[in-house]
Amino acid sequence: MAIDGRKILHAVMEGSLIRDAKGIIPLFGVYLSLFSVQYYNKLSFDFEKRMGKRKEKEAEVLLIEAAQECGYATFQGIRNSWEWEEIVMPMIESREDQVFGFTAVSFAFGWGDMEVKELIPDEKLLIQVSDSYEATGYMQLHGSANSGKCYMLRGVAAAFMGLLYGEDYPDGCFNFSAEEPLCRAKGDSYCEFVARRSSH
Ligand SMILES: [Zn+2]
Repeated sequence: MAIDGRKILHAVMEGSLIRDAKGIIPLFGVYLSLFSVQYYNKLSFDFEKRMGKRKEKEAEVLLIEAAQECGYATFQGIRNSWEWEEIVMPMIESREDQVFGFTAVSFAFGWGDMEVKELIPDEKLLIQVSDSYEATGYMQLHGSANSGKCYMLRGVAAAFMGLLYGEDYPDGCFNFSAEEPLCRAKGDSYCEFVARRSSH
C-alpha cells in the first residue's frame, strides 16, 4: 500500500488543535510549537552574515548540523509514537516506505512539499521541494544567492537516511550528509537535496 499523505496531514491538522497553556503541541510523540518562518529565517541568515565572509562556510555547516540533529531526534520520536503506529504503520510495507511517511509529516508540519524523486536503499535519497520557506526567506532578506540556502531541509534529508540506514539511534545521526545542488534562492526552479553516506 502506498503511503496516503492526506491521512497523515489530517492527523497532524486535527492533533495540532490540542495545545497546552504555553502553546506546546504534544503530537506524534514529540513536542511541537508554532514558529514564524520569517523569524527563523532572520535568525539563521543573520547568524550566517554576522559570522562574516571568512566563516560563512562554518556557519552553514553549523546550521545544517543543527537541523540534522533536530530532524533525526524528532523523527525518531515520531516513528515511535502511537500516532505513527496507528496511522502510518498500516501503510508501511518496506523500510523505504518510512521516508514517504516522514515527508508527509514534514509537509503537514509546514517544512515544505518534500517529494521523494529517488531512493536507493542505503545509498542515495533525492528529494525535490518547490516551496522551501528558506529559499523564499533568503531572497526576501538578501536577494539572490550564490549557493543553496535551505539548511533546514538539507539537514533533514540527511537525517531521514540516518534513521533508515544508519547505526541504531542515537549513533547514526551523521552517517549520511546531504548537498543542495539546486536551490530556488540561486535561481533554480526548485530546490533539490541529495543525501549520501558521509565520507568521514
Ligand atoms: Zn533551496
